[in-house]
Amino acid sequence: MAAKAEFIWFNGEIMPWENAQVHVLSHAIHYGSSVFEGVRAYNTPKGPAVFRHPDHTKRLFDSAKIYRININFSADEIMESTRELIRRNDLKNAYIRPAAFLGDIGLGLRANPEAKSDVVIAAFEWGSYLGEGSLEAGVDVGVSSWNRLAPNTMPTGAKAGGNYLSSQLIAGEAGRHGYAEGIALDIHGQISEGSGENIFIVRNNVLYTPPTTAGILPGITRDTLTILAKELGYEVREESIAREALYLADEIFMCGTAAEVVPIRSVDGIQVGEGKRGPVTEKIQKMYFGLFSGETEDKWGWLDYVNS
Ligand code: PMP
Repeated sequence: MAAKAEFIWFNGEIMPWENAQVHVLSHAIHYGSSVFEGVRAYNTPKGPAVFRHPDHTKRLFDSAKIYRININFSADEIMESTRELIRRNDLKNAYIRPAAFLGDIGLGLRANPEAKSDVVIAAFEWGSYLGEGSLEAGVDVGVSSWNRLAPNTMPTGAKAGGNYLSSQLIAGEAGRHGYAEGIALDIHGQISEGSGENIFIVRNNVLYTPPTTAGILPGITRDTLTILAKELGYEVREESIAREALYLADEIFMCGTAAEVVPIRSVDGIQVGEGKRGPVTEKIQKMYFGLFSGETEDKWGWLDYVNS
């Protein structure tokens, strides 16, 4: 599905989508100096609401801080502009992509520490990232021959554009092998994450997910599902997971803002559990999507209503 809407927000102004342009010699294009977020808004019974909006905005600013990228807007300005953009585009469900990047500031690698970044917010309709029907049917995945980044090369805790070169290698290889997604190991050979999703393994009704030291992006959906799973009475363990655990799991699911909660039915051609969405995954999915339908009470104040 092509990313497109009528309006886009660029450096403080809402403008026609086509008008948000950058120069071909932008620093970010040549050196990857960008940070971004992926956020979703859902059409709830009280109208469109942005999910965990302050948390995503905080992560955008945290990513920028790590790379010393100056964002010349406050978190509140970014969030208000996002709500305004959703209203202007008349969106009910939306994928939201804020980004801050170094633009036309010259090609010196070491950016002037005072340089202001360009900031963009796009909001448009986007369906299930891993394909129509993936949420029920599940997907087939393979372990990637590419490892995730080493912690002392590029920090995976920052959601930086450059990290997605690693993701492109993982996702591209998976696609060529006929898989919907690849699962990367970290540099120690333990399970890390998908190219754009975190992972949970279920065995004997206990949930396991790799720790932040496993070269992962600490996902906001991962955090949400951990909280929801505990609400449902499950034990959730954040610990190092060996590759073979993928083959012996009762259930596996991946999660992320774009991908949402996706069951995995096979890894490397080996069937996971019954080879279809398992009962724990289904319960967690139901509770997650219930937040947006109103069936799950939003005790945490995670919904930022666009029209209030
Ligand atoms: N890992 C990677 C590499 C990602 O790109 C994403 C998507 N942002 C995630 C994990 C999941 O993060 P979140 O749940 O915050 O979207």
